[in-house]
Amino acid sequence: MANKIQMKTPLVDIDGDEMTRIIWAMVKEQLLLPYIELKTEYYDLGLKKRDETEDRITIEAADAIKKYGVGVKCATITPNAARVKEYNLKQQWKSPNGTIRAILDGTVFRAPIMVKNIKPAVRNWTKPIHIGRHAYGDVYKNAEYRVPGPGMAELVFTDEQGTEVRETIEKFDGPGIIQGIHNLDASIKSFAEACFAYALDQKVDLWFGAKDTISKTYDSNFKRIFDDVYDAEYRAKFEAAGIEYFYTLIDDAVARIMRSEGGMLWALKNYDGDVMSDMLASAYGSLAMMTSVLVSPHGYFEYEAAHGTVQKHYYKYLKGEKTSTNSVALIFAWTGALRKRGELDSIPELGQFADMLEAATLQTIEDGVMTGDLAKLAEPAAQRIVYTEEFIAEVRRRLETSVA
Ligand code: NAP
Ligand code: MG
Repeated sequence: MANKIQMKTPLVDIDGDEMTRIIWAMVKEQLLLPYIELKTEYYDLGLKKRDETEDRITIEAADAIKKYGVGVKCATITPNAARVKEYNLKQQWKSPNGTIRAILDGTVFRAPIMVKNIKPAVRNWTKPIHIGRHAYGDVYKNAEYRVPGPGMAELVFTDEQGTEVRETIEKFDGPGIIQGIHNLDASIKSFAEACFAYALDQKVDLWFGAKDTISKTYDSNFKRIFDDVYDAEYRAKFEAAGIEYFYTLIDDAVARIMRSEGGMLWALKNYDGDVMSDMLASAYGSLAMMTSVLVSPHGYFEYEAAHGTVQKHYYKYLKGEKTSTNSVALIFAWTGALRKRGELDSIPELGQFADMLEAATLQTIEDGVMTGDLAKLAEPAAQRIVYTEEFIAEVRRRLETSVA
């Protein structure tokens, strides 16, 4: 293109590992650099670099997102014992996503990327169902043990003055199990804020379901905080945007979602979100056909793919074998970030470019040209099953046409 699109504020470019690292470079090289004078601040979160910097690079990357507002992240290895050996690591570094999430105080939103020739398993889901999962507390930060035999189980809270509040859980006649969970008003409030902000940004209704009829204090607290945030900050904005917020029981929400056409944001408590996001991803096709964005209530955005580093494909790649890895989620991470940067900096060309690149990507698949993972699901059957680099070249060809 004769005149490349100019940027104002740098985008925080966070590189990662394995097959996704290979694709990350291809996407920039083939699909972005020919059209945009890319202004980025680059952070290499490849495992080697994290080890070299004692993981400081991860914190620096999160701080850069706080400074500039928008980041885009490649998939990264969360090391386990096998990775410590494979990469000869100084220690088993924490999940970069967990570290970044803790610093940005965010909620993760996911939505399926839909194409005509991949049909959702639920026929009436013609629009994407967005999910917002609370990522703090409940059963993920519990205390639990096995009760060996008869005895008394109580819930005890001791305040700073030493005053105790006690509640009987159960008088056990025999062996059983017991569990204590918690959550924090501050965390629930930032979850609610992020959901309202996302729904408004996407112009979709917000649904929230919990079980306040049974859990009259715990789940009712979630409901109350959502109501408070809505009344104080969002009711007028939602009305102006023509969207609505409603709360219903979680089981009613599930039943209604199944009969809906999609097109809403579904806010879910931590466990519900864990279960429902995997169900939705598989019902809509694949993790490589999902967008994922971390939205912080302070107005920071981090775009990423929902899948991992695709390790098995990378080992094939290292042996010089051909791979057919789906790059759609990585492409959409970049388009999401560029569109948001364009919005914040009033550069409409960036948003238009993101729209064109997304359209070229979807068109490629709808033309029947796709990677192996999608070919298994396509209806009608794929015309051509292509390798990783061929898919990107096919997108480039279509993008050239629309840019011209
Ligand atoms: P994965 O990378 O998501 O891959 C699991 C399997 O799903 C692959 O073997 C492949 O199936 C299929 N798949 C996933 N993405 C695909 C794509 N783009 N195109 C085609 N097929 C795709 O998960 P994993 O193998 O469990 O994890 C690998 C590494 O990723 C781990 O070290 C983990 O820590 C990391 N991880 C990172 C993130 C993140 O940074 N956001 C998230 C999850 C996992 P086939 O082999 O059948 O083709
Ligand atoms: Mg899960």
